[in-house]
Amino acid sequence: MLRSIRRSLGRKLLVAVGLPSLAFTLALVLWLRHRTRFAAPDLEPVYGIAVIAILLFGALMGVTFALAMRWVIEQPLQRLAAGLRHVREGDYLYRLPVEGPDELGMVAETFNTTLAALTDLHARRIEDERERVLTAQLEARVKELTLLFDLARRLGGTLELDRLVATLTELVGRGLGDHAFALLLAEEGTGDLVVRSVSGLPESANGVRIRAGEGPAGWAVRERATVLVKDTGADPRRPVLAWQGEAQGSILAVPMIHREDCAGVLAFFRPATDAFPPDEVRLLESVAGQAALAIENARLHQKMVRLSQSDALTGVHNRRSLFARLDMERERCERFDHTMALALVDVDRFKQFNEAFGHAAGDGILRRVAELLAGAVRKVDLVARYGGEEFAVIFPRADRAAALLAAEKLRQAVEAAALPHDASERGRVTISVGVAVWPDDARDLGALIDAADAALYAAKRAGRDAVRAHEAGMRVHPGRRRDVRTTADAEADA
Ligand code: GH3
Ligand code: MG
Ligand code: MG
Repeated sequence: MLRSIRRSLGRKLLVAVGLPSLAFTLALVLWLRHRTRFAAPDLEPVYGIAVIAILLFGALMGVTFALAMRWVIEQPLQRLAAGLRHVREGDYLYRLPVEGPDELGMVAETFNTTLAALTDLHARRIEDERERVLTAQLEARVKELTLLFDLARRLGGTLELDRLVATLTELVGRGLGDHAFALLLAEEGTGDLVVRSVSGLPESANGVRIRAGEGPAGWAVRERATVLVKDTGADPRRPVLAWQGEAQGSILAVPMIHREDCAGVLAFFRPATDAFPPDEVRLLESVAGQAALAIENARLHQKMVRLSQSDALTGVHNRRSLFARLDMERERCERFDHTMALALVDVDRFKQFNEAFGHAAGDGILRRVAELLAGAVRKVDLVARYGGEEFAVIFPRADRAAALLAAEKLRQAVEAAALPHDASERGRVTISVGVAVWPDDARDLGALIDAADAALYAAKRAGRDAVRAHEAGMRVHPGRRRDVRTTADAEADA
């Protein structure tokens, strides 16, 4: 009862007004009774009627008051409370009916205008938030596109594999900030992955070899699909490369696939679990696609350059490459005041070998001799097939003594191989070598070749299987047309 009174403003007012009114009425009735009994006993019958009238009037007033309370105060207040409940539940478009210019009407109106202002504020905040999200998304997208555009522009213009790898590492590193990153290339032939460059990882990782199926990168190659290890601590594909977040972190390995070929893998490391959101994975897949195309182009270019420089039968350099290098070395000699040497190598009694064993076997001997020569020189030297069964070797920065030693090594290498040749003096394949030195024996390339040829002729006359250096007065091979051509000639020919 008390609770129901406390919960209703109308009932409270009813009690507040009703109780004193009841007390007053009772007091009035008692006073009247007292007066009539002692002062006017003859009015006693009227007293009963008066009491009934007073009670009826009181009851009527009470009911009227209660109804007025309900209509005028309780119901408008309940509507206000219902309105507030709507707002609390998020309905900012709800409006209270304004039922008059009284205080409750004013409250309703103020409530409506406040709500309108709130609605505005809320809408503006939603708009701001949307704008902020859109701006962030736009910025991320612009960053992605810039990276892809830079990649396309800079990778497209690079055909040399080493430079390509460096450019890729720099751009990916710059574009992705805090990533630890490794670029692995698939080795031609074995298909193994070899680490070619790293960023944010120990330099010792360079050169590490990873087989297909080994670690996340090996998996990416074998499955030809992106591998995302969200938690290295819980994934059976343990990382092969040592990196800081090894115990717990995430790894993303994206294969660089162009058409059917996998050129390698881009591997990214982060020392937090689940650190590669789908958007970033998608971007890195685009990067890998572009990188694959660029690597493929660089490899094709490399192959073409190699083919254009090598001799089809023996695989050593061809004449074009020989003359290009001779030109370059001559320029170096002039600029830095160096010497260089040229050796002409001729297989002894080769015509007879062909006649005895056939042309195909002769080809095999040429291949073998080329291999032996290439194996007997330093990295900076160049072995080329000069033509027929003749080879030329350039020894950069060599003087006469060094060149003679190097040429003797060539002779010994062929001799030591002991390739059988019944028709030759020694029963095995041998070579004769003539050496000439720039600038001591010649002042132009044609003369240098003539000088080496004259020395070769001297070696032949000395009984073959011999090395001779050019000396003044030596005669050029009789009956031979020394075909001296420079790079420009060779290129014009090609
Ligand atoms: P010498 O010791 O005086 O050099 O005697 P030789 O028989 O080697 O004489 P020459 O240099 O005149 O003979 C070269 C021979 O090399 C002629 C040719 O049959 C052979 N020859 C040239 N090119 C090739 C080739 O591509 N394959 C094969 N099998 N033989 C070749
Ligand atoms: Mg010859
Ligand atoms: Mg010969």
